[in-house]
Parts: sequence; structure tokens; C-alpha cells
Amino acid sequence: MGDHRRADGEDDASYDGVGLWSVNEYGYLSSADIQESPNQNERPEGTKIQLLVIHCISLPPGKYGGVDVKNFFLNKLDPSDHPYFRGIANTKVSAHFFVCRKGQVTQFVSCLRRAWHAGDSIWHGKSGCNDFSIGIELEGTDKSVFTEAQYGSLAKLSSILVKKYRIKDIVSHGDIARPKGRKTDPGVLFDWDKYRTMMEVD
Ligand SMILES: [Zn+2]
Repeated sequence: MGDHRRADGEDDASYDGVGLWSVNEYGYLSSADIQESPNQNERPEGTKIQLLVIHCISLPPGKYGGVDVKNFFLNKLDPSDHPYFRGIANTKVSAHFFVCRKGQVTQFVSCLRRAWHAGDSIWHGKSGCNDFSIGIELEGTDKSVFTEAQYGSLAKLSSILVKKYRIKDIVSHGDIARPKGRKTDPGVLFDWDKYRTMMEVD
């Protein structure tokens, strides 16, 4: 359980090969569907990326597989589509990556730039975590379990990012959000042990 390394020839649709993914010099993942969000800006000059922040989102909450998260990060959510959307349609947020239930990765912001995912936040005494972090959203809710495909893609993506940017720590949005309790994602059912075991950091 939880071991993604399979014998040759054993099929695993959620996992499509080690080493095929890479992040280029411009901060984009080779395998991602790139959808540039307007909700981004430059990181403060000289900032080192130090942190990965794991989130979850689905729109409306609990509904999977649609285009509304993508539309939300692109400021294209139609408030007339769902009552829930009326409250958030004008909120300008983004994340660097979104991993859908099937494990496919969409990238909204280059890793070199600042995505707007963490809000008021603090890590090791440093506030404003958007400045020095990369945000990864999993399609889900704070009370959902996540799919094998998501763990596979998240672990692979995280491994690449940790190596490339020498990231020091991986946290949940709930860990860093302030005031404490403002956010609880990705929730108690996110399996940190499984995730860390699957990462290929050596
Ligand atoms: Zn979050």
C-alpha cells in the first residue's frame, strides 16, 4: 500500500513514468495544461522559494470534474451558474497548480511568480507566505479522501519542485493560515504519511 514503484509492465494509469516531468527555466511544468491566471504578480526581489503549501478546492464544494475551479482562477466564474458562486465570483485568487481527481495537472502561475493562494499566513515567523511559497490545490473538500491518481501526481510534482527549488518544508494551508482556524484544507483525511512515502526525494 502506498508504494508507487511497480514492477515493469504492471499497469498504473495514475502514474505515467518517473523522469518524464520537469519544470523548465521559466517555472512551468512540462506535463501541465497551462492556463495563465491574471491573479499573480512578481515575488519580492531576491525571494527564495522555500515552502510548498497543499490546499484543496472544488466548485461548488464537493462537485468534481467541472471547469469551475479553472474559471475561478481565471476570473471567469459565472455568478449566475450556482448560488455559491455569487459570494466568491469577485474574489481574485490563484494557485500555481491544480490537481484534478484524475491526477491531471493544470498550472495557472509560473513557479517563478507569486500566486495568490495562502492569504494571511505565517511560517516560522515569516508572514505573507505567498511571497516565498508554491501553492498546489487538490480537487476535493476538507472532508474528502483523495484519489490514488492525485497522490501520484502530487508526489511526483512535489519531488520535482523540492529538488529544483530546494524547498525546505511542506505544509497544509491550515497550518499557516491566520488567524488560526481560518482555513483547514486539505483536511484531516489528507494522508501525509502516504504522500511523503510516495515522494522520491533522495
Ligand atoms: Zn487553501
